[in-house]
Amino acid sequence: MAPSGSLTLARFPPEGEVGQAKQRQAAKDSGRPWAPVMPVAVSSATGTNHQVRLMEHLGKLSKRAEENTRAALQAARDADSEHNRLGALHTILAGAMALMEREVEQGYAQSAESQKLKGQIACRKGCSFCCHLAVEASIVEAILVWRRASQRADLTAAVHANAHKSANVDPDQRWKMRQPCPMLGADGACQVYEDRPGSCRAFVSVDAKACERSLLTAGTGNADLSVPIVPFPRQIETAISIGVRRACAAENLQSCNVELTAALHLLANDSTAPGRWLAGETVFRPYP
Ligand code: SF4
Ligand code: SF4
Repeated sequence: MAPSGSLTLARFPPEGEVGQAKQRQAAKDSGRPWAPVMPVAVSSATGTNHQVRLMEHLGKLSKRAEENTRAALQAARDADSEHNRLGALHTILAGAMALMEREVEQGYAQSAESQKLKGQIACRKGCSFCCHLAVEASIVEAILVWRRASQRADLTAAVHANAHKSANVDPDQRWKMRQPCPMLGADGACQVYEDRPGSCRAFVSVDAKACERSLLTAGTGNADLSVPIVPFPRQIETAISIGVRRACAAENLQSCNVELTAALHLLANDSTAPGRWLAGETVFRPYP
């Protein structure tokens, strides 16, 4: 069973009843790991049985991602060169993203309502209001974004020029700053699209105008922050991300999430960071 969502959508950015601070506190209180970048409102219209099956399904997804990741981490450790190490890490991202895409497609195919929802997705190349969010990523994702970005002088320069402005800034504050991700090109397209983190892939809106309005009014007296987000890609991404992090923890590697801009800045300034992380050192600053 693939998870499905209805148009009972998340409110974004995080303020009010589904705000990040409350979600984080609720996660702490319940002992669950805090993973999401953005809040997801699960439809209350779905029944208890559905919710139970959904949770079971997400649990299995998490487990599968954990097993795949552990195998790839071991291969990365055994690799005899930096190139091969990063290549092995890339299989983690490729595997996790293929799993996510397959599950999301199954979710859309599940009912007439979700098929209709797919047709309403507003996300397009060049639409980039959401790229002003703080991006919470796994350490593997951050390393792989940097692997791609470091091959381009303009992206390396953007990291050095912009990171200090927004790295590790509180998510609410970051949104109000309207500071773009250093991986965002002048054409409004992600410059590391093939290797972008799962949280970027899973943020799916059905109203680009709402995204724009939310960004432009954040922090003003007329803030209108409601953005209709499709819930189930976030649910799937969160489950997979938790699996990846559990695998890192099981391999005695630093397993927290990181803020992408801050992690890129660190990686740009310290080429030994990926190797030291794989050797079990605590290298990155946890986020949030
Ligand atoms: S989430 Fe909103 S801003 Fe981002 S690509 Fe989709 S419609 Fe555009
Ligand atoms: S990594 Fe790419 S998709 Fe994600 S916020 Fe940055 S520019 Fe946008």
